Amino acid sequence: MRLILILGDQLSHDLSALRAARPDDIIVMAEVASEAGCVPHHPQKIAFLFAAMRKFAAELRAKGHTVAYATLDDPDNSQSIPGELLRRAADHGATLVIATEPGEWRLIAALSDLPIPVTQLPDDRFLASHAEFEAWADGRKELRMEWFYRDMRRKTGLLMEGDQPAGGQWNFDHDNRKPARADLLRARPPRFEPDAVTAQVLDLVEARFPDNFGRLRPFTYATDRAGALQVLDHFIAHSLDEFGPYQDAMLQDDPFLHHSILSPYINAGLLSPLEVCQAAADAHAAGKVRLNSAEGFIRQIIGWREYMRGIYFLEGPDYTARNVLGHDRALPPVYWGAPTRMNCMAQAVGQTRDHAYAHHIQRLMVTGNFALLAGIDPHQVHEWYLAVYIDAYEWVEAPNVIGMSQFADGGVVGSKPYVSSGNYIHKMSDYCGGCAYKVADKTGPRACPFNLLYWDFLVRHRERFERNPRIGRAFATWDRMDADRRDRIRADAAAFLTRLEAGEVV
Ligand code: FAD
Repeated sequence: MRLILILGDQLSHDLSALRAARPDDIIVMAEVASEAGCVPHHPQKIAFLFAAMRKFAAELRAKGHTVAYATLDDPDNSQSIPGELLRRAADHGATLVIATEPGEWRLIAALSDLPIPVTQLPDDRFLASHAEFEAWADGRKELRMEWFYRDMRRKTGLLMEGDQPAGGQWNFDHDNRKPARADLLRARPPRFEPDAVTAQVLDLVEARFPDNFGRLRPFTYATDRAGALQVLDHFIAHSLDEFGPYQDAMLQDDPFLHHSILSPYINAGLLSPLEVCQAAADAHAAGKVRLNSAEGFIRQIIGWREYMRGIYFLEGPDYTARNVLGHDRALPPVYWGAPTRMNCMAQAVGQTRDHAYAHHIQRLMVTGNFALLAGIDPHQVHEWYLAVYIDAYEWVEAPNVIGMSQFADGGVVGSKPYVSSGNYIHKMSDYCGGCAYKVADKTGPRACPFNLLYWDFLVRHRERFERNPRIGRAFATWDRMDADRRDRIRADAAAFLTRLEAGEVV
């Protein structure tokens, strides 16, 4: 007798463990406190996964599989993945577990340590295997995503004309990066009314996780593949064409803009990355979507997403503990929704609380930028991102946070730290107009904190970044400022950080 383990982010009917299943195998699925509580996950994230797991289990049963499913409130539930496997093995006399490799070192180790044999099959829902990524990385001085991405384009044939990229270029980012304007007619992602299964899960989550940061209702995410396919179709038909130009834009009270909101479904396994990209490429081929949008979107998935996973597994289990900049300030309460006078932070954190979602530039250039400039402990930043986003799993969250956003890995992911003064946020958003601070003020009581902290960060880390070709020039600007102004900026930054640490409203 054998057990087949299906984890909450493995809800794919063609999963390697399911392909290996025989008719008499027992499929084990479990809602466990050890996973739901490893960080204080956003209630919508827990609800999304539990509802999607219950519906996936029902689909497996309808296909004739035997599923041993433990709900969180099942009194027999041992509340951990290893515990559930051992309990089911004892119940059914099973002597072997077949799993698809989890996306987190912690769980891989837990399965390896089980007292019964576990076969961990490769997760081939990703385009690049561990061996393929290792071979790509081997001997390279810099692991730049762009080169990896080109290999993935060649491998998949997406937007390729023979061995050349469609349109003669691999990357059309110079056509992108435009600010957006408020538009009441902009399409919004489809909303799904909770059905009976989801409603029951919402009640459970409400009762069991009352103190977790984030609003549970209204809950409008899809929770099965059919719904996820509707989100995909809607995005391709209504938003993808404008995705490219506006992917870096941020707008007050418009949390989604032209983004796809597909990451929850792709990461949980309800959609495959390749089918999503193929749909985008087909829409371009049919003349419905401009090339820079299709290319930009496909690059995020077969480029960034695959690359981030490659980095996570290449760098090893200690990755989330890295902190080359020695940052140790505690994560301030503004990240948990405390009042703030910084409108950009209020917007990014507010929509995170409401939807368990923020788009890439909000994560990178608002909450991430602020944490890096303010010298927040990257591990605390990592745990925050892992907790609050509906799409967050360590394999993708950690390289984005520890690597790209916090530079805590010393430049494995990014060749420079993603830091900016208030100017970038002003250029790419309409946040600054409604802010208590003044983005034009570089010093003084109303100076935008990003302006103060930007210089303070660079000066604190001058030795490391002065010779960096992508950011080093900023030091010449700093050196040209008169000494009084430099002193004022640093004193204002220090005063701001003192207020931040004291828990004052900043
Ligand atoms: P879109 O903007 O519509 O992009 C399309 C797809 O591209 C996404 O669905 C996603 O699958 C993929 N994608 C885009 N950028 C990345 C990236 N950098 N890494 C991996 N995939 C990418 N993404 C996660 O899936 N989980 C995370 O926990 C996560 N944490 C992040 C933390 C930080 C600090 C930053 C800067 C980025 C993070 N990202 C994460 C990447 C990105 O922000 C999200 O994938 C994206 O916002 C999801 O929304 P969307 O589906 O509307 O994306």
